[in-house]
Amino acid sequence: MAEAGGKSFNTVDSKDQLMLVELKDSIYGGYKQELLNDNLDPLATKFILCTGCNGLSREACSVGEDQNIMCLTCIPKDATHIPMKQARESVPNIPAKCALCTRGCIWKGDMGNLTSHLDECEFFVVNCPNSCQMILQRLELEEHLKSDCTHRDVTCEHCNGTVQFKDLTKHYKECQEFPLVCQNVCGGTFKRKELQNHINTDCPNTVISCSYKLFGCNVEMKRCELADHNSNNILVHLDCTKSYVTDNHTRVEGSLKQLQEEKVGSNQMTEVQQKIKDIEGKITDPVTIKTLTDKLNNLQTVNIVKLEKQLAELTSKKCDLSQVTSLETRLAAAEAKNKTIVTENTTLKTELAAFKKGILAKIPAPAT
Ligand SMILES: [Zn+2]
Ligand SMILES: [Zn+2]
Ligand SMILES: [Zn+2]
Ligand SMILES: [Zn+2]
Ligand SMILES: [Zn+2]
Ligand SMILES: [Zn+2]
Repeated sequence: MAEAGGKSFNTVDSKDQLMLVELKDSIYGGYKQELLNDNLDPLATKFILCTGCNGLSREACSVGEDQNIMCLTCIPKDATHIPMKQARESVPNIPAKCALCTRGCIWKGDMGNLTSHLDECEFFVVNCPNSCQMILQRLELEEHLKSDCTHRDVTCEHCNGTVQFKDLTKHYKECQEFPLVCQNVCGGTFKRKELQNHINTDCPNTVISCSYKLFGCNVEMKRCELADHNSNNILVHLDCTKSYVTDNHTRVEGSLKQLQEEKVGSNQMTEVQQKIKDIEGKITDPVTIKTLTDKLNNLQTVNIVKLEKQLAELTSKKCDLSQVTSLETRLAAAEAKNKTIVTENTTLKTELAAFKKGILAKIPAPAT
């Protein structure tokens, strides 16, 4: 550690070049002389100041035959040099105190050890190793790293993840375990990863649609009002559900019928035509007509046979004129009755024809 005086500064690229001699456009060079005690021993000055940049030597070396002290980075190209730690033997054994004694360092030793001491001196400056760009006294570093460095690792109290302190606020905006107050002002607090689910399924203040929306109830309300809405609208819900079911049923039947029609097609038509033909056949069925005609004919025949039989009986008995007259009168009456029956028969035939015509008219004409 003593060998490389500027080891802690290897990555210094701060714009705050407070502690570095501003040399051209580089970070090369030693530390600013302001660090040193105002009344620095001239002899000490000779052994710790860089003859190149005039700053406090960084990674001090003894250069050339003249043994000039220079920062490692200030040494001219090709110049022979050895680190001060090795060159110490050539440094006169002069008592010296720390160049930072006014800051509080009580170190005392040989002049040859002074640059080595500065590598460890608690009052010397270092850069924060977390690249937060802070330059501070070595003794402040521990506390800085523990509780001040913006680049220090901290543990998220919610998810136990490791985050840099400077990113903590941003992390809180993404941390899935971070507690959030429900935006519906229901009074609940939920982890970020659970909040959406709470709002979607639990939050009493989430505005939701009526559970009968599908059936036609378009009322929207807070989830906590749903139970009241349902119990106050039983009939409304029943009614719209009924309409929905009926409409659906009709639609399904219609679709089914359409489907069947398309499927059955011409076969079904033939079937219907056959049915119509069957009905026609039954109406013009000769058996039916014959039965009716026979009944009428029987009636006539029976009457005539009966009258003829009575006439024969009378003739055989040689009945008197009055009897004959009486018989003739009865015969006339029978004949008249017979005429009536014939008329009735004709009427029945006409009615039957009309009935037949009426039925045929009701049968739809077969499709062609
Ligand atoms: Zn220098
Ligand atoms: Zn010191
Ligand atoms: Zn830091
Ligand atoms: Zn977290
Ligand atoms: Zn809520
Ligand atoms: Zn409703």
